[in-house]
Amino acid sequence: DQNISQLDPEIAAVLDGELARQQGTLEMIASENFVPRAVLQAQGSVLTNKYAEGYPGRRYYGGCEQVDIAETIAINRAKELFGAEHANVQPHSGATANAAVLHALINAGDKILGLELAHGGHLTHGMKINFSGKLYQVGAYGVDPETFLVDMNVVREKALEQRPDVIIGGWSAYPRQLDFAAFRSIADEVGAKLWVDMAHFAGLVAAGLHPSPVPHSDVVSSTVHKTIGGPRSGFILSREEYAKKIDSAVFPGQQGGPLMHVIAAKAVAFKVAATEEFKDRQQRTLDGARLIAERLSAPDVAAAGVSVLTGGTDVHLVLVDLRHSDLDGQQAEDLLHTAGITVNRNAVPFDPRPPRVTSGLRIGTPALATRGFGDVEFTEVADIIATALINGAATDVAALKARVLKLTDGFPLYPDLQQY
Ligand code: PLP
Repeated sequence: DQNISQLDPEIAAVLDGELARQQGTLEMIASENFVPRAVLQAQGSVLTNKYAEGYPGRRYYGGCEQVDIAETIAINRAKELFGAEHANVQPHSGATANAAVLHALINAGDKILGLELAHGGHLTHGMKINFSGKLYQVGAYGVDPETFLVDMNVVREKALEQRPDVIIGGWSAYPRQLDFAAFRSIADEVGAKLWVDMAHFAGLVAAGLHPSPVPHSDVVSSTVHKTIGGPRSGFILSREEYAKKIDSAVFPGQQGGPLMHVIAAKAVAFKVAATEEFKDRQQRTLDGARLIAERLSAPDVAAAGVSVLTGGTDVHLVLVDLRHSDLDGQQAEDLLHTAGITVNRNAVPFDPRPPRVTSGLRIGTPALATRGFGDVEFTEVADIIATALINGAATDVAALKARVLKLTDGFPLYPDLQQY
């Protein structure tokens, strides 16, 4: 029974290389985070060996007494954290959670209405070649061309016009809060069910720093690995009346055996998310995003043709508008990468550039807040990014990289983790 460095040195080198990359750069992809060591331990445990089709107490396999405990704890913690009547913690990912939600709520051929992909929606909310676009009739609402905000009057008009069976609230790239009560009243008016996908902002909701969609929605889906900072996976919350349908849509409708090591890790993440320390981290996440939005709205940045969509942020991310900059999204992403900052390019609504290039950046603060960053560090990060976006190709990358390394050295990540 060999250690991975002996059995498979090529993969061990990838693990070591990735640890070094995460330790030595500033991770600012809005959908990423750093899990606690306890989550790594649960995910790297012997629970990976176990088949457990079914649900706690109702399994199709023997020997489930230990994993039943883990799943029951995860379910109870999820319900308590979000004040939900029912929780299903088995979805392997956010996308499979979403497939199960639609599977539970409607039939193939029925109508859905969600935020336009190009305006910040998600693939699973009706993109043409995604299952959601193939199985259902898709309608979309966009953001306002002037304010870049979701206008609930427009959502209502579209809903009245298209009469969807499910209305979807939620986003992958939107810097403001949605009005869930307004979504509920529109859904009621047109006889639709309301599904909110809180994958991005679930951590903020858990901390009480963002309105909760749970009291307003029929079903809420989420990932665990974004602002919550748990294992890469999904979960679904619902009203009791949908409990059976959701559970059977996940298994056997959508998946076979659940990933019990990941479910145990979800339980750990939900425990962490109920702490004061977690709340403090989410507050630093929000404060950091606001500081970045403020710095990128300053006159010296504006003079370079760079601005912040909607003029700021209420959440964990900032959308940078490069439509009037010499840099396109790809160039800006690459430039920041050479300075040691990882972000992703992102189309802005009404983007004139193609999707592979884009005219925007999505910059998120969850991972750095987890790393321990507060106002002082986020102010420095904001200035590094501003300096790069102002100077473009003429940026003194070495100088910025030195500033990045000072920050990463000051906040060691996984200091006790062994190299393989
Ligand atoms: N829903 C939203 C709003 C997302 O942003 C994402 C992830 O990007 C997902 C669902 C899908 O999650 P996963 O990548 O785990 O399938």
